[in-house]
Amino acid sequence: MGSQEVSTVDWQGKHVTVAGLGVSGIPAARALHERGALVTVVNDGDDERARAQAAELEALGITVRLGDGATLPPSTELIVTAPGWQPDKPLFLAAAEAGVDIWGDVELAWRLRGDNGRKAAPWLAVTGTNGKTTTVRMLASILEAAGLRTAAVGNIGVSLLDAVLGEQEYDVLAVELSSYQLHWAPSLRAHSAAVLNLAPDHLDWHGSMEAYAADKGRVYEGNTVACVYNAADPATEDLVREADVEEGCRAIGFTLGAPGPSQLGVVDGILVDRAFVRNRQKQAQELAEVSDVNPPAPHNIANALAAAALARAFGVEPAAVRDGLRNFRPDAHRIEHVADIDEVAYVDDSKATNTHATEASLAAYDSIVWIAGGLAKGATFDELVTGAAKRLRGVVLMGADRALIHEALTRHAPEVPVVDLHRTDTGAMSEAVEHAARLARPGDTVLLAPACASMDMFTNYNKRGEAFADAVRARAETSA
Ligand code: ADP
Repeated sequence: MGSQEVSTVDWQGKHVTVAGLGVSGIPAARALHERGALVTVVNDGDDERARAQAAELEALGITVRLGDGATLPPSTELIVTAPGWQPDKPLFLAAAEAGVDIWGDVELAWRLRGDNGRKAAPWLAVTGTNGKTTTVRMLASILEAAGLRTAAVGNIGVSLLDAVLGEQEYDVLAVELSSYQLHWAPSLRAHSAAVLNLAPDHLDWHGSMEAYAADKGRVYEGNTVACVYNAADPATEDLVREADVEEGCRAIGFTLGAPGPSQLGVVDGILVDRAFVRNRQKQAQELAEVSDVNPPAPHNIANALAAAALARAFGVEPAAVRDGLRNFRPDAHRIEHVADIDEVAYVDDSKATNTHATEASLAAYDSIVWIAGGLAKGATFDELVTGAAKRLRGVVLMGADRALIHEALTRHAPEVPVVDLHRTDTGAMSEAVEHAARLARPGDTVLLAPACASMDMFTNYNKRGEAFADAVRARAETSA
């Protein structure tokens, strides 16, 4: 059977354990129950919300076990797990011992696609440490501009299961996949896929960098047309080399420089394709201008090239690449320009929650007052600070692990003024913005790119970004 064909499972009477009540667990339990499976949901938590959700499922005839996500229910034939559940959980160890397969939400969606009688749309998949959401949304925008019925789905808000089982029929899906989701998706076979970059992240979950990379590399398995890699990040090309793909599938690189054959790249401010053209030794096809990319920061141009490569692999015409990129609007808190005050730009990149992302956003500006800090998740900051030192006008630090960044600054950029904020209350961000404004000179950028998670001070990175934007807007009003 070809890797893209739909295989059907006979669910009638099959004992399936769904691990985790939540955004993926509830629709999974329902879908399996509707197909005749005997579903038991297990969940670690046993709070009020879980009880309400459990009651709804129980009313359908689904068994729910709250407060015990560790024990394998007897007669389990298959586990469908929420992607975040760590592989070394006792439930999974027991499953391995009993020879029970474990699927994640993505694997389930992949197996169920097309079994409602609707067309099973091919998947164009994107993974990487940073830039996934942006790239998948750019890709969906390009596919839409080409007149295709599509959606940006996956680790992005819209569940894959809803997309494959819903009413709407699609021609192709733009799918964001996290390393966790790939870990639990053994039979997924995308039409084409991209790994944007690879930097250490989530190593506590995967156990090692090798295991993390191997899970990301799964996205290339069985690709039929293109494995898209980042020419500036050899680790992504290594993953292509190791992947078992369909015959005729090509390795396609993207680069911010001039592209070689079988690459997409940039020449004189133009995004060009030297991969999906008739004669790639001699020919290059113009796709769009750098200024069509929003915002045209270097890492975002790389995201645009990756999205363009996947769209071109699917046969999309150059004009649709250009139109799709022009129509694209970035999500909030990702290098979002908030305001200009006294000739200083204020930019919210609260989504930069690791050093790799922050490195990219610091590289996008010439003279910066950098607001950083939060939960470091085991990261070190020496490389980040060394690379950015020359462009730092000043730094404002906040949050639990700010001392780690301060120490790196003392070591590698001792001349850069640093304000160290001890406050952790909700008003701290206003104070940070005040200090940043004082440090900034006309032409500078005040950049919130924390290189850390936000949960020590805020509910999430959205709230942190909103606090920054509120403080900036309040300042804009008083200075107007
Ligand atoms: P993800 O979905 O992988 O978290 P996003 O598109 O939401 O990625 O971007 C997350 C953060 O990573 C943003 O703050 C942005 O500054 C940074 N970023 C985006 N694209 C890249 C890239 N190609 N390389 C490095 N950092 C990036």
